[in-house]
Amino acid sequence: MKTRENLSSLILLFGATGDLAKRKLYPSLYNLFRKGNLSNRFAVVGVARRLKDDGEFRNWVRDSVTTFGEKADNLEEFISHFYYQSHDVNDSESYKQLKELVDRLDHTYQLEGNRIFYLAMSPEFFGTVAEHLREDGLTNTNGFKRLVIEKPFGHDLASAIELNKRIRSAFKEDEVYRIDHYLGKEMVQNIEVIRFANAIFEPLWNNRYISNIQVTSSETLGVEERARYYDKSGAIRDMVQNHMLQIVSLLAMEPPIRLTTDEIRSEKVKVLRALRPVEGEAVHDYFVRGQYGEGIMNGTKVPAYRDEPNVPKDSNTETFVAGKFLIDNFRWAGVPFYIRTGKRMATKSTNIIVQFKDIPMNLYYKNGSTLNPNLLVIHVQPDEGITLHLNVKKTGEVLGTTPVKLNFSTKSIDGINTPEAYEKLLYDCLRGDATNFTHWDEVALSWRFVDNISEVWTNEQADFPNYAAGSMGPKAAEELLEKDGFFWWPVNF
Ligand code: NAD
Repeated sequence: MKTRENLSSLILLFGATGDLAKRKLYPSLYNLFRKGNLSNRFAVVGVARRLKDDGEFRNWVRDSVTTFGEKADNLEEFISHFYYQSHDVNDSESYKQLKELVDRLDHTYQLEGNRIFYLAMSPEFFGTVAEHLREDGLTNTNGFKRLVIEKPFGHDLASAIELNKRIRSAFKEDEVYRIDHYLGKEMVQNIEVIRFANAIFEPLWNNRYISNIQVTSSETLGVEERARYYDKSGAIRDMVQNHMLQIVSLLAMEPPIRLTTDEIRSEKVKVLRALRPVEGEAVHDYFVRGQYGEGIMNGTKVPAYRDEPNVPKDSNTETFVAGKFLIDNFRWAGVPFYIRTGKRMATKSTNIIVQFKDIPMNLYYKNGSTLNPNLLVIHVQPDEGITLHLNVKKTGEVLGTTPVKLNFSTKSIDGINTPEAYEKLLYDCLRGDATNFTHWDEVALSWRFVDNISEVWTNEQADFPNYAAGSMGPKAAEELLEKDGFFWWPVNF
């Protein structure tokens, strides 16, 4: 792994005028530069369709950093490293011109032939770009070459295999960095530390002491401008195949023998292999889909999904999924992992709740009823931290108890917001650390699981809409847990 001092690379950014680049990538790169994690030996070539010269492009980047990032004194110095090339992804001539520019910058900035190709553009181009990079000589370099690729990686297993084949014709598996930006989030990265660096949790982290685990990722926004993509994808492909299954595999994996990319990934893969497949009629028992109808949010009426721009009036696409995963191995047999995710829900929140089993015999009472179970809550966003729910003696009473929360918030300790996920992932990629990116085996196993559910849902017309915008999803999502004797804990618990 390279150290901070000698990190040098050319970053070739396809989709340089896109939304992701503007909101996330330039501010994140600038943060790395500002903090000294990106040396002066770097250059960024922005590639997109719209005609722009270097000057216009630099204005674009400056505007992005000042609008979405943190400004500091050396912004102009940072921006002087940016170059622009107007490009057509299907045209070999464009790549040849790009190669000339890249070779020149390699020399100017002493980049040692190191190249990161970042595809922040529509997935339909991923295969074409990767093949052209090889055919037109851009991957022919003495330094490292890495491909960073945004989601979605395919639409189902078959299309993912096809895409992977094309990408692998130009890059080896360990040169491919498949982004799942949840893996860049501070508290998602913290799951492993909480589990494997605390003697009090790991002995309890199994089916003898845990009754169920709940993962919620709720959004308040609707489909916004993404309807053309989203209506073909739905929540199961957009959220469950990647982010939700990644979180579950981090929660359920065995301790790796070492903290290396290969060892960690191999433990995550084992979890995905142990997932009990849900097929055919069983889909109705294990998964619930929903689509939002109109509702009131913050006092304002918002439209139903089917009334959003570019959504068909009879859309069968789910904007909400709740599901139950069972992991058939020694550690987890019998422990349900519930997940739910959706748009236009009551609150914006991602959190994980680990519910411990009840104690064997209750000697106390809490207001005349049973004790609260112990909960470990991992707050992923917008708050970042953990809360441990315990029962303590109620002051002044002999047998009475009261629940208390032990809180840790990253803000209260560090005093600042933690770095944006993209900043961490870009830094990892520059250092050649692929741990927080998704390996092909994980992608393939996740699609195999999700395809079984999509197949059933695609072939049956759903009774949509079935939840009001501003609620926590359809009633059936509550019943999914009720029939197992559980309930969803409130997200901000
Ligand atoms: P966008 O539509 O805003 O931008 C697309 C970019 O691709 C533009 O710069 C455009 O010029 C370029 N482009 C399009 N066709 C081209 C062609 N033929 N030749 C050369 N360049 C071309 O898209 P986006 O929202 O920035 O998303 C990019 C990728 O990132 C997608 O895979 C998306 O799923 C993923 N993603 C986006 C976000 C986000 O917050 N926007 C979040 C997660 C993942």
